[in-house]
Amino acid sequence: MKTIIEGGRIVNEGRSFEGTVIVEDDLILDILEGTASPRGSYDKCVDATGCFVLPGIIDEHVHFREPGLTRKADIESESRAAAFGGVTSYLEMPNTVPQTVTLEALDEKYRLAATKSHVNYGFFFGATSDNVPLFARLDATRIPGIKLFMGASTGNMLVDRLDALRTVFATCAELGLPLMTHCEDTALINRNMAEAKRRYGDDPDICHHPLIRSAEACMASSSLAVQLTRELGTRLHIAHVTTARELDLFTPIDSAGRLPSITGEAVIAHLWFADDDYRRLGALIKCNPSVKTAADREALRRALTDGRITAVGTDHAPHEPADKQGGCAQAASGMPMIQFSLVTMLELVDAGVLPIERLVELMCHHPARLFSVSGRGFLRPGYKADVAIVKRGEPWTVTPDMVQSKCGWSPVMGQRYHWQVRQTLCNGRVIYDRGRFLPDSRGEALRFRMEADEVPGRKQK
Ligand SMILES: [Zn+2]
Repeated sequence: MKTIIEGGRIVNEGRSFEGTVIVEDDLILDILEGTASPRGSYDKCVDATGCFVLPGIIDEHVHFREPGLTRKADIESESRAAAFGGVTSYLEMPNTVPQTVTLEALDEKYRLAATKSHVNYGFFFGATSDNVPLFARLDATRIPGIKLFMGASTGNMLVDRLDALRTVFATCAELGLPLMTHCEDTALINRNMAEAKRRYGDDPDICHHPLIRSAEACMASSSLAVQLTRELGTRLHIAHVTTARELDLFTPIDSAGRLPSITGEAVIAHLWFADDDYRRLGALIKCNPSVKTAADREALRRALTDGRITAVGTDHAPHEPADKQGGCAQAASGMPMIQFSLVTMLELVDAGVLPIERLVELMCHHPARLFSVSGRGFLRPGYKADVAIVKRGEPWTVTPDMVQSKCGWSPVMGQRYHWQVRQTLCNGRVIYDRGRFLPDSRGEALRFRMEADEVPGRKQK
């Protein structure tokens, strides 16, 4: 089966150019620069005239809620939302039920995804204060890395004793596994919450959320993570950085293109919303860490281009509408975002926040490099044909019927967008085409840290 994607502008590896992508079965066969149509016959032709052709997005941070919380979301619904959004691979977090903190629970997730996921998948293994001995038994080619909640978040996987933290950091360093951390200081949050309850009652208004889950709580925990990394030599990726001051913890990729050992992720909510949005959207934008000030948002946006932020994910975390009622104590934290992450970032391209080439680095290349995803994240011959085709055109508005996530709502409902995802190709097949979902195939388990000659794609060449 040969497919040709022609007429589009390819954005890849820091450049954009008119060109053609030729796909054979699940692999990219060739990338041709220029507008001339190549000879040959093709089973399928994708006309990308007027479009940008990007590598499929790798969302490095999602919560799909399966197993155990499938009233909120499941692998089928959320991977469908991913396909609609140009996302062809995702890395999913361990705070499901049961938590992904045993080898059996990890196997179970891969088993579920093999029959349910429309796009490609990888699952983090969760650290607890007593499961570190299992790390050495993990197959490092099957998982992106270890996820550690430093400070309380949803799901009771808090590790906050210093000796336990040190063991997690040291073991990841020893095994060469990337460590992704959620950094918020629990003691500070608890103190702030107690004070807010004293002043405002048992369920303080949502506008206090960023003062309870405060900038200080983020900085204290992120600084500790950086200190442990320096001491123990871990490869650290701090999830969802939210404050201007934390950005000073990071350095850009060096001139030789090497990733620094300490990197930061920004997620869509913190790049798009600021604290003045609580009045309009209430608990819909409640997430942990909290959406902070407009000044923090501006600093995060600047860090997208100055290199202090290395990757953009979503922290896609659906809840049922009923769970999003109430204030700081009652409302659940988290929001769905995967379906609209790419178009939201493209709006930021329009606003002059970042060039489209940089968007592709932050959402495709760097997630692949940070976790050593094999054979994906770039448009290269021999790589898997995961492609997102986007177009700027007539504005459209998000309505509830468009939302693919099982929870049925989105914090960007009512938002006007100028960009559309036109087609999504996953493993060489068109799975989404201008509003139509074509679920005739399944995603594949991502592979990590493979030697070049072991990458499935290369072998077949
Ligand atoms: Zn998360």
